[in-house]
Amino acid sequence: MPELPEVETVRRGLARLIVGRPVLDVKVYNPKSFQASSGDTQAFLVGARVVAARRRAKVLIIDLDSGYSLVAHLKMTGQLVFRGGEAWAAGHPTDSFVAELPDRSTRVEFRFDDDSRLFFNDQRKFGWIKLLPTIEVENIDFLKKVGPEPLSGDPKLVQVFLKNIRRRNNTVVKAAILDQTVVAGIGNIYADESLWAARTHPATRVRDLSDIKLRQILRAAIEVMTRSIESGGSTMKNYIRADGTKGDYLEKFAKVFRREGRACPRCGSEIVKIRVAGRGTHICPRCQKLPAGI
Ligand SMILES: [Zn+2]
Repeated sequence: MPELPEVETVRRGLARLIVGRPVLDVKVYNPKSFQASSGDTQAFLVGARVVAARRRAKVLIIDLDSGYSLVAHLKMTGQLVFRGGEAWAAGHPTDSFVAELPDRSTRVEFRFDDDSRLFFNDQRKFGWIKLLPTIEVENIDFLKKVGPEPLSGDPKLVQVFLKNIRRRNNTVVKAAILDQTVVAGIGNIYADESLWAARTHPATRVRDLSDIKLRQILRAAIEVMTRSIESGGSTMKNYIRADGTKGDYLEKFAKVFRREGRACPRCGSEIVKIRVAGRGTHICPRCQKLPAGI
């Protein structure tokens, strides 16, 4: 599933490529993937100009000058692909990044005034795009409950994070940082990477961690997310290497995620895959020990 840095990478691409463009037409290949009445689509989308591409947690918000917004969640396998003066793709990496479109995974297609197109592709069909009045976006149930933005630079972030995670004192720390009401946008990749960076075993109970350690984990999550975004994230450019072979964007920043059997970059011990909080979890057994007595 795309996590916060992957969605931020999508947002940056959209901000560069579609802001300022009027939408000429929308084609819906799978009605469940595009939730809007045809009346609203004609009145508030067709002919409207894109004015901003925003993000809250893993939700993309594309504001239109009609007072409406397209709100999108990529879920497990969603991706957005732009074809026009340049080819760009980001989100869940598949061959549709570079295929002729529409293809079997295309659910929605937007056409702009210069005949450029934006394709919403989604193999598993769990993702969605909704057309809503912009003022209603903040009332979406999920957005009301979601925790603080880790990359916002908000000076209150640490304080709010500590207050939220202390409510989960009895859970294991990996489950607590995956909880979207504690902090927004951390999924399996960045949970494993941040706990490795902070030398914390993912099955440690929150109550057994000091505030200092919890701050280290948050700081590590922010650092690894920032590195992922700076490396270009999950985009077409990282999917196909310069020599034409397939790349994996995780190679650019991951130290433990999907690296079981390989050496820990810090101590050389073998990285192992275990199960914590119901999720496949990658750790260095030497760097990340459970506290004594557990
Ligand atoms: Zn190690």
